[in-house]
Amino acid sequence: AKSEGRGTYRFFEAKLGIQVRERRLLEHDLRHAIARGEMHLVYQPQTDVRTGATTGFEVLLRWQHAERGPISPALFIPIAEESGAILQIGEWVLREACREAAGWPNPLALAVNVSAVQVLAPHFVQMVHEVLFQTGLAAARLEIEITETALIRDPARAQSTLRQLKALGLRIAMDDFGTGYSSLSNLRTYPFDKIKIDGSFIRSVDGSEQTKAIVRSVLGLGRGLGLPVLAEGVETAAELRFLAEEQCEAAQGYLMGRPAPIEAFAQLTHGGRAR
Ligand code: C2E
Ligand code: CA
Ligand code: CA
Ligand code: CA
Repeated sequence: AKSEGRGTYRFFEAKLGIQVRERRLLEHDLRHAIARGEMHLVYQPQTDVRTGATTGFEVLLRWQHAERGPISPALFIPIAEESGAILQIGEWVLREACREAAGWPNPLALAVNVSAVQVLAPHFVQMVHEVLFQTGLAAARLEIEITETALIRDPARAQSTLRQLKALGLRIAMDDFGTGYSSLSNLRTYPFDKIKIDGSFIRSVDGSEQTKAIVRSVLGLGRGLGLPVLAEGVETAAELRFLAEEQCEAAQGYLMGRPAPIEAFAQLTHGGRAR
C-alpha cells in the first residue's frame, strides 16, 4: 500500500510538472503571438429583442497557435492576466476593433471585453482616450464589458477608473451577471450602464421554473435601476420567446449569430466609411 501511495504521489507530481511547463510555454508564446500574426478577432451580433435588429457586435479574441492550433480564450486569458501580457494584447484588441467599428454605419455599437488587470493598470483611461482619438470611433459607440469579480481586487481604484471612463462618453456593461460575488451591492457601487445575464442561466431557462424566476428577477432589477439587460448564450427560439415575453431588452447567442470574422456580417457593416 505504501509503494502504491508513493506511485500516486509521483503521478501527481509528474502531471503537475507538465501543467506548469505547459503554462510557461503558453506564457512565452503569448508574448509573441500578436507579432507572429496568430491573434485575430471575431464578432458576435447583439440584437434588440423587440425589433430583431442588430444593434452592435461584441468582439472576441481568437488565438491560432502555429503548432497547437486554436487555443480557447478561457485558457489563455487567465495566463495573459497573470503574466501581464494582457496589457499589450488588450490594447491591440481595442485598437483593432475600434478601427474596424469606425467604418460601420453609425448606430452600430462595439462591445469590448476588458480585464481587471487592464482597468487597474496605470494610464488605462489615457490609452482608451488615445485609441478613440486615433481611430475616430465616437465614444458613445463603445461599450466596455467588465466582470464584477474583476473589480474586488481594488474597489476604490476600480470605481474611480470606471467614472473616468464614463466621463469619456462610453458605456460600461457588467458581464456574467449572477455568477460572481455580491452582485447587488456592485450595481450600486459602480456606474454600470447595462447588465449582461450570464449564458448559464439562459441555457437552462426552458426546463426550469427556478431559472425562469431568477431571470425574471434580474429583469425586474434592471427595470428598477433603469439599466437595460442583455441575455447571453441564447441558443433556441424558445429561450428568445421567453425573453421577449419578459421584456428583456437585448440578446446575444448562437441563435442570432455565432462569433465570426467581420466579413460574415458585411451586409450589416458595409455602407460606412470606404475602406
Ligand atoms: P464572455 O465575455 O462571457 O463571452 C461569451 C462567450 O460565450 C464567448 O466565448 C462566446 O463565443 C460564447 N457564446 C456566445 N454565444 C453563445 C451561445 O449561444 N452558446 C454558447 N454555449 N456559448 C456562446 P469565447 O469567445 O470562448 O470567450 C470566452 C471568454 O473569454 C469570454 O467570455 C471573455 O471572458 C474572455 N474573452 C474573450 N475575448 C476577450 C478579450 O478580447 N479580452 C478579454 N479580457 N477577455 C476576452
Ligand atoms: Ca463579454
Ligand atoms: Ca459569460
Ligand atoms: Ca436551454
